[in-house]
Amino acid sequence: MFKKIFNRLFNSDSVDDDFNPVNNYSITIQTNNTTDSKLCPYCKNEVGEKINKFKCPYCKQIVFVRKKNAKSVLLTEEENTEFGKNKIFNSVKKKNFNSLVNNGYDLQQLELDFQNSNVRTLNHLKDFIWHSYNFLLSKYPTDFNKQKLIYYSMSNFSIEYENGKDAERLLKLASDIDLREFSKTIKDEYLSYQIVIIGRKDNKYCAGDNRRIFKIKELLQNPILPHQKDGNKFCSCVYGLEPIRDSNGRLIFKDI
Ligand SMILES: [Zn+2]
Ligand SMILES: [Zn+2]
Repeated sequence: MFKKIFNRLFNSDSVDDDFNPVNNYSITIQTNNTTDSKLCPYCKNEVGEKINKFKCPYCKQIVFVRKKNAKSVLLTEEENTEFGKNKIFNSVKKKNFNSLVNNGYDLQQLELDFQNSNVRTLNHLKDFIWHSYNFLLSKYPTDFNKQKLIYYSMSNFSIEYENGKDAERLLKLASDIDLREFSKTIKDEYLSYQIVIIGRKDNKYCAGDNRRIFKIKELLQNPILPHQKDGNKFCSCVYGLEPIRDSNGRLIFKDI
């Protein structure tokens, strides 16, 4: 089912002009440059080793210099652009695959799904990651702790790559899970509890509520989190469950 969705998504006939296939690109770089990194990629004259981009003395073209496997390679402007995109693609992939695996995606399965999805462009990679998070949500429908962490990861993703367009909705889903789970604990345990907001310090709305204490009932009726964003700083506060103490610092047990 999952594979089917990807195939539909990525093997569609829509042309993504983002950038060329990563694999094809790598081959281009290798054949042009690993044999001799001292040749101008345009006119093939020997220009010596270079650190910064330069103008070829023979053909007057601007030649770009990048590091690849600790070795300098000389690139045409087009190759240089592809190189940069390839680097971004790999770093987005690495970072988010790490997060997906931490959230319960089997690494081998993830690599396999990625290969089968035929993803080649950055936009498709982002779609793939987003769908993989949704797949995880459906994989663990009753593990609320996992669900919460997946929502937090998704909100981070939204902030980093999608201008945070879904971030507040996702943060609310995550925070509401805490409230629901805390209310169960409070009902079941013999100790008395209160909820405390552990706030972000550099967002003014968050900082104002830092360490503020609530009864669970108030929050269930009127959840506070997430706060609104302050500039580009989204709320990253969490609810905490805190046992109530008496004036002598002793834990308070519920009346039975
Ligand atoms: Zn040249
Ligand atoms: Zn906040």
